[in-house]
Amino acid sequence: MIRTAAYTRDLLPASLSSDGDAAAFVHRFQFVEDIARDWFRRYGFQEIRTPIFERTELFARGVGAETDIVTKEMYTWRDRAGDDGEGESLTLRPENTAPVVRAYIQHQMWKRAETVRLYYIGPQFRRERGQRGRYRQFFQIGAETLGVGDHPVLDVEGIELVMGILADAGLRNLELRLNTVGDAETRARFVAAIQQALADRREELSDDSRRRLETNPLRILDSKAEQDQPLIATLPPIYDFLDDDCRAHFDAVRRYLDAAGIAYVVDARLVRGLDYYTKTVFEVVSHAPGIGAQNALAGGGRYDGLVETLGGPPTKGFGFALGVDRVVLAMPEDGAPEARPDVFIVHLGEAAFERALSVARDARRAGFAAMLDVTPRSIKSALRLANKLGARYALLLGETELATGQWTLRDLIRGEQFAVPADAWLQYISRNDET
Ligand code: AMP
Repeated sequence: MIRTAAYTRDLLPASLSSDGDAAAFVHRFQFVEDIARDWFRRYGFQEIRTPIFERTELFARGVGAETDIVTKEMYTWRDRAGDDGEGESLTLRPENTAPVVRAYIQHQMWKRAETVRLYYIGPQFRRERGQRGRYRQFFQIGAETLGVGDHPVLDVEGIELVMGILADAGLRNLELRLNTVGDAETRARFVAAIQQALADRREELSDDSRRRLETNPLRILDSKAEQDQPLIATLPPIYDFLDDDCRAHFDAVRRYLDAAGIAYVVDARLVRGLDYYTKTVFEVVSHAPGIGAQNALAGGGRYDGLVETLGGPPTKGFGFALGVDRVVLAMPEDGAPEARPDVFIVHLGEAAFERALSVARDARRAGFAAMLDVTPRSIKSALRLANKLGARYALLLGETELATGQWTLRDLIRGEQFAVPADAWLQYISRNDET
């Protein structure tokens, strides 16, 4: 038997899942995606679908050559040389911000709108060590706001969207963590201070942090290694290095969040893994009982230099990504409704079967989910199946019904049964999701 590759999985209809693992039920993913699309509509975001793979240099430049993603986690290969290529290096997208920014530049979107609001929903690929809540193909819902302005309200709108989606997905016990990483100058001063403060104590740092002292010192702040903690505690907060503009931006973001009634904690050590952030960064973690160690559900921030880094004009940007797999893990067990048939059509005898086919077609054309089993069965066995599928109604067609022109309609929820006129039976049913 050939199984899925390591740390990848099938998302399945609940009824076809062999292990009953609700974390892989596809209807739970669809539920979250539908909620997200509706929130994006309300805030004026439009969908973009970028290719699943891109030129490798996009991520090397856009995500940051020293990040874990680029150094360790990308699925990269050299394409075969052919008429249209020279055997270039390609990569499965590990994230979707760089591709959206590439598209913004490629299509010169700034010429069409002062503020561009785009969202995406789709799989991302990272060669990580798998565990519960961490997969090599995982799904993200994300959004980017790109344009001339960097008004703090744009940051807060993004955060509102994330919190709105998570709340509608039924998630509780959420914590919004907020921080600022300043601008490039702030960061350069802060990084120099970190390097200076730790220069004499390098040996006390964990291996990872020692390496990061050269490559990506900011990330030492979010090290989880026990031995790093006393050293991190001695570092000055980044707030000491902010200039007036960055400080005012952070204060305004907090003020607008307060006005929106969104609770948050300021977390001075939150820096996030990607290189491109400026000013606001945030993360949402879940304290739901079943979530486990991978409890970061969403994260994002401002990235005012990224468009230029990738060859575009000076542009401000804010974005976030939400991990759908983890939202599904944190959702209540009965949090998402599964699609069920509205009506199950029971047919008894050859003539009834022929009629049932057109009856089912009528129901479907009228927008109802109508199930019709092609296997002949007894009424009892057919009703058992209808109940198992969660059908709202069963429509019974037998010899008597054909002779009288009155169908027998059974309300499977109320357990009532009555005769309805064959030519108007659709008026007697309603959709499963409307009851
Ligand atoms: P990032 O793009 O690293 O900022 O991640 C944004 C969100 O995507 C995280 O908060 C997670 O919810 C989710 N995520 C990132 N990596 C994985 C993964 N390997 N498996 C599942 N979800 C992930």
